[in-house]
Amino acid sequence: MKSLYMDNAATTKVLRVVADSMNKYLTEIYGNPNSKYYWQAEKSNEAFIEARNKISDIFKCQSDEIIFTSGSTESNNLVLKGIVDANLDKGNHIIISAVEHSSIMNTAKFLESKGIEVTYLEVEKNGSVNPEVLKKNIKNNTIMISIMWANNEFGTINDIEILSSIAKDNNIYFHTDATQVIGKLKIDLDKLKDIDFLSASAHKFYGPKGIGLLFIRRDKYGTLPPITPLIHGGEQQFNIRSGTIPVHLIVGMEKAFEVVTKDLDRNRKILLETEKELMERLKKVFNDKVIFNNLNINKIPGLLSVRLLGINNQVFLKKVSSVFSASTGSACSNMNPSHVLKAMGFSDKEIRETIRFSLSAYEDYDNFESIE
Ligand code: PMP
Repeated sequence: MKSLYMDNAATTKVLRVVADSMNKYLTEIYGNPNSKYYWQAEKSNEAFIEARNKISDIFKCQSDEIIFTSGSTESNNLVLKGIVDANLDKGNHIIISAVEHSSIMNTAKFLESKGIEVTYLEVEKNGSVNPEVLKKNIKNNTIMISIMWANNEFGTINDIEILSSIAKDNNIYFHTDATQVIGKLKIDLDKLKDIDFLSASAHKFYGPKGIGLLFIRRDKYGTLPPITPLIHGGEQQFNIRSGTIPVHLIVGMEKAFEVVTKDLDRNRKILLETEKELMERLKKVFNDKVIFNNLNINKIPGLLSVRLLGINNQVFLKKVSSVFSASTGSACSNMNPSHVLKAMGFSDKEIRETIRFSLSAYEDYDNFESIE
């Protein structure tokens, strides 16, 4: 039996139009875009450049400010390690929030083990970063601030405009992990000029796995900030990210970005409606045993954090897996109790009772009648 898939914050299906857009670049036009003199290479390179142009048009940035990576984990590693390494003459302190994804958290811990000073900003009860708390933690030697746009376990949206402006006022680089907001919020990098870096992963918005990007803002002369590459090699992508350019993945990522951008309002409406239906169903099935953790906060649509009182989340999810799939939190750190919920003040018992439902805007959930 096909179970209801409600773990879209972990990954989404690839839309048919996206898969179709990629096919040609797997079996017909498969040349290496960095090769020269023959049509295969030229056509591949044209497709790569066109996809990059279209992505930068949607973001309202320059096309040479987009660096393709294997996903947000790599983008987050690249920006933290790369900026710290290349800017040590300016300072050795970075600030992140206590609820960042493990790819920021564990990179920061790695840097700490190498002598970099890291501040893990406490968050409000709803998981957001208070701008006043950020201001208080800035020091003379702070070179970088990294705060996620929306949280992957709670959906909380941070005020990135304000937070990035605080960084800019203090002449500090600002990075945001936007993995969970693509296709959920409009992102205008021309307007949000204080964002220096942004990470994204295609498979969170109905694109393929294994492709993501790091936006790196250039200055008014077109110069990139000093950043040490994570991967050395053939000097592709302005020598920031070497490795043969995976044209099919980039074409797929672009197509998915195009679709979710076009469907932004439609998807928001569908996700909010579906979220409501799911809540109704859970209330009906679990009565007073269900608590909705993330209601009445500014959050991305379609992500519900729910507590089922007296029920162990892992045992429960295993038991119901033929009916629906959801998760206990981030798929990237399933073995440990969530550091995100802990930082928000949840007890271990409450964390063990918590389930994350994350919905798709392209799935027919049939009013959740199979949940009973
Ligand atoms: N950041 C956030 C907020 C995420 O939700 C994820 C995926 N769970 C990542 C980074 C890492 O993305 P990827 O696994 O595609 O590298």
